[in-house]
Amino acid sequence: MEKILIVDDSLVQATQLKSILENDYEITLVHTAQDGLDYASSGSYSLILLDVVMPDMNGFTLLKTLQEEVITRHIPVILITSLADIEHEQLGLTLGAVDYIVKPFHPLIVKARVNTHIKLYRYRRQIEALSVTDPLTGVANRRRHDRYSIIKWQEATRLQIPFSVCMFDIDKFKVYNDTFGHPAGDTVITSVAKTVASHLRRSTDFFARYGGEEFVAFLVGDSAEKAFNHLKRVRQAVEDLHIPHNPEVSPWVTISIGGATMIPRRDSTYDSCLKMADAMLYDAKKLGRNRVVWVSDAMKQWREERSDS
Ligand code: GH3
Ligand code: MG
Ligand code: MG
Repeated sequence: MEKILIVDDSLVQATQLKSILENDYEITLVHTAQDGLDYASSGSYSLILLDVVMPDMNGFTLLKTLQEEVITRHIPVILITSLADIEHEQLGLTLGAVDYIVKPFHPLIVKARVNTHIKLYRYRRQIEALSVTDPLTGVANRRRHDRYSIIKWQEATRLQIPFSVCMFDIDKFKVYNDTFGHPAGDTVITSVAKTVASHLRRSTDFFARYGGEEFVAFLVGDSAEKAFNHLKRVRQAVEDLHIPHNPEVSPWVTISIGGATMIPRRDSTYDSCLKMADAMLYDAKKLGRNRVVWVSDAMKQWREERSDS
């Protein structure tokens, strides 16, 4: 059930609004603007019904604050007020309210408007989620990677914690497609993505499809050696899927992984770390594929040795 926050200093009016909506939505009632701000920041509300005239902070000021905060500015706000003049209505809409309901209101009208804005908000969230998801595999896409990597890199720079970036590439995948066909190739890409994602489950791990049969991940806080060892297990997990490849190139589908770990410096960039990971991926391919090669900012390199190549 979608959640609605009602901010209204009048107990009578707040209760009346609640009774109109409580069959269809989960309602939270608060009676001060400060509580409104606190609840809006902590809860996952799909709509805020906001009274304009309140003693501690008026609704316009609260609306402005909500619009300025990253975590609340996406929540639609409907203003409810007895200030029926054009100037106030215009001010509310200019400040970012999606709608303006003048008292006394009719329950059916309140319900209809609320339903419409909840529906629009749901569509918007769906579109936003789709725009950052890879349609084939369901993991994050390149767009999400490009946005999120910058934020996380900056955070690691501020905190001075190790940041690891790794690139994954399916081995001899052109041969796979040529042998088994493109739809079968798509299924492999999906299985690889799901397997890798299931091994990168910490809240600070990030994994995305970079393009084609390539993926990218970053991990925060681990030493180079620890990240290297973890990614060796991930590589092994893909091999252990035992997806038959063209026997002329390999018994199973495998991946190569290149990684780089560094404590971000003010003058270094996420891109430079990604480039190093890509260079390590190139080394992994050159050394015979199905292996992990890693580098630290001290330029120490780790290479997974494999007896079968
Ligand atoms: P290497 O081991 O050096 O990575 O060899 P490779 O054949 O995997 O590398 P190459 O870059 O030559 O070929 C990548 C292939 O991945 C080419 C393309 O057919 C396939 N591919 C890229 N995107 C997709 C996709 O979305 N679906 C499928 N089925 N195949 C894809
Ligand atoms: Mg490739
Ligand atoms: Mg490849």
